[in-house]
Amino acid sequence: MTATNPHAHLRIVLVETSHSGNIGAVARAMKNMGVANLWLVNPASFPDEASYARASSASDVLDRARVVDTLDEAISDCVLVMGTSARGRKVPWPVIAPPECAERAAGQAGRGDVALVFGRENHGLSNEELQRCHYHIHIPSNPDYSSLNLAMAVQVICYELRMQLLRSLEDAGEETALRPILQPGDAGWDVPQASVNDVDGFFAHLEQVLVDIDFHRRENPRQLMARLRRLFQRAHLDQMEINILRGILTAVQKSAGASQNRQ
Ligand code: SAH
Repeated sequence: MTATNPHAHLRIVLVETSHSGNIGAVARAMKNMGVANLWLVNPASFPDEASYARASSASDVLDRARVVDTLDEAISDCVLVMGTSARGRKVPWPVIAPPECAERAAGQAGRGDVALVFGRENHGLSNEELQRCHYHIHIPSNPDYSSLNLAMAVQVICYELRMQLLRSLEDAGEETALRPILQPGDAGWDVPQASVNDVDGFFAHLEQVLVDIDFHRRENPRQLMARLRRLFQRAHLDQMEINILRGILTAVQKSAGASQNRQ
C-alpha cells in the first residue's frame, strides 16, 4: 500500500472476457473509484480498439493491465481471493455481500494483495475457479434476473471498495465526500447564520400571525410553537431566510387585516 494509492493492494481479475468493450468499461469503472490494477486472464481480444474506445479516459488502466494465461498466474501471490458469482453453486461456499467484501479487502491492506475475480459474460466462473476463492461475492440482485453486465458488476464492487475507504478516512478524522462539505454557518456559506435573537424575533412574529389568523390560541397552545420551533431549528436558518420569512408574515398580517376590514 502506498500513500498515493490506498487501493494498490487490490487487483481486479477478469477471466476469459469475450467482449473487449467490456474490458474498457471495466477500466473506466475501476478508475472512477480509484482502483488501478487490472489483470486479464486469456482475454478473447486485447488490446484492441473496442477496449480503448469504451475506457474513455481510463486508457492508463488498460496500458498497465497484466495479461496472463491462467487464473493461477493472476492469483498465486495473493493473500485473499474473492470470486463473484450471479448464482449459487452445487458445493456451498462462504458467500458475502459487496460491503463485507470491501471490509475484508481493506483488512488486508499492508499484509498482501487481494484479488477480486470476475467471470465470463456467457457463463461466469467455473466451479473449479470459484473453488480457488476464499469467498464468493454475490451482488444481491433481483433473483429473477440476477446476472449483471460484467462492467456493472465491477462497478458495484469498486464502489463498495471506495465507500469503505472513505469511511475509514472519516474515522481517521479526515473530511470526505461522505459528509456534506458545506453547511449553513460554514465559512463558504453566502449569508451569515441567524442569531438566537433573530430566530426568537421570527418565532414571536410567527406566533402573532398564527393568533391573528385564528390558527393558534394562546390559552390552548397544544405544543404548537414548540413543534414549529423544532421544525425551523432543523433548517439552521440564515439571516436572509429570516428576513424572507418575516416579510411573508408581514404580508400575511396586512392581507388578513385588509380582509377583516372588508368584513
Ligand atoms: N451468465 C453468467 C453470469 C455472467 S455475468 C452466470 O450465470 O454465471 C459476468 C460476470 O459478472 C460474472 O461472472 C460475475 O463475475 C459478475 N456478476 C454478474 N452478476 C453478478 C451478481 N449478481 N453478483 C456477483 N457477480 C456478478
